[in-house]
Amino acid sequence: MKHYSGKKAVILGGTHGIGLATAKLLAEGSAEVLVTGRSKTNVETAGKGERRIRAIQSDAADLRDIDALAKIVTEHFGQIDFLHVNIGIAELEPAAEVTEASYDRQFGINTKGAFFSVQRLAPLIADGGAIVFTSSVADHGGTPGMIVYSATKAAIISFTSGFAAAFLPRGIRVNAVSPGFIKTPTHGVAGLSGEERAGFESLGDQITPMGRNGTADEVARAVLFLAFDATYTTGSKLSVDGGLGQRITRPQV
Ligand code: NAP
Repeated sequence: MKHYSGKKAVILGGTHGIGLATAKLLAEGSAEVLVTGRSKTNVETAGKGERRIRAIQSDAADLRDIDALAKIVTEHFGQIDFLHVNIGIAELEPAAEVTEASYDRQFGINTKGAFFSVQRLAPLIADGGAIVFTSSVADHGGTPGMIVYSATKAAIISFTSGFAAAFLPRGIRVNAVSPGFIKTPTHGVAGLSGEERAGFESLGDQITPMGRNGTADEVARAVLFLAFDATYTTGSKLSVDGGLGQRITRPQV
């Protein structure tokens, strides 16, 4: 299948989990992909043996890194067709335990990083191209241990609308996926022990209407649908959450 032949994509936060799954699907479809991550180890292992995936160390919370990345993308690709803004961390803590540092970390990566990455990389997207943000089922409603993270993702939904409007004249569509519990190396949560991750996964199985965690591949397919197939869709959010954010419950009888 050569569905993405000739396409060029950049995935911010693509060295493992949902971003890497998206990169692999694109590469299987013959696209050329550049992924970013912070950790040197993850950058070195991402896409190993995948000749169409190149990984770059770049911290989305650092505007100098974003500017340096824009130069690399220009040299490597010239123009791109698709930008996936997938970076994100969650620090689980009740409001009383939130520190200035944890607040700044989450907003610095998830929100500030996402905004300035789009501001500085959008000039490299070809007219008619696409941007997809990764939000979260936590972008609406209230969860006591995720107040700050939820707010960073609510901002992503606002960015989706704002950038969708701003890029209408260029024909660049801007959408978001909103995952629920997804089985990735971190489960999207920073600093969990193996035991805590298992507990998190089991919670996902219990409270998700479909009765299970989703896979990174299921989110990646939704991302690529929005990026390449949903040609009459912009400013939208596609939930990939097994029904978790949809006010539906399992039948009791
Ligand atoms: P993951 O496996 O932890 O991957 C996150 C990726 O983002 C990694 O490549 C990571 O690189 C990169 N990253 C993090 N901070 C970065 C920064 N400052 N600069 C550049 N790259 C950075 O996460 P995931 O579970 O696939 O989640 C991906 C996205 O989905 C996130 O936005 C997350 O909030 C969202 N999400 C996940 C879930 C879930 O259950 N998994 C649910 C809802 C939403 P390093 O490892 O090198 O830091």
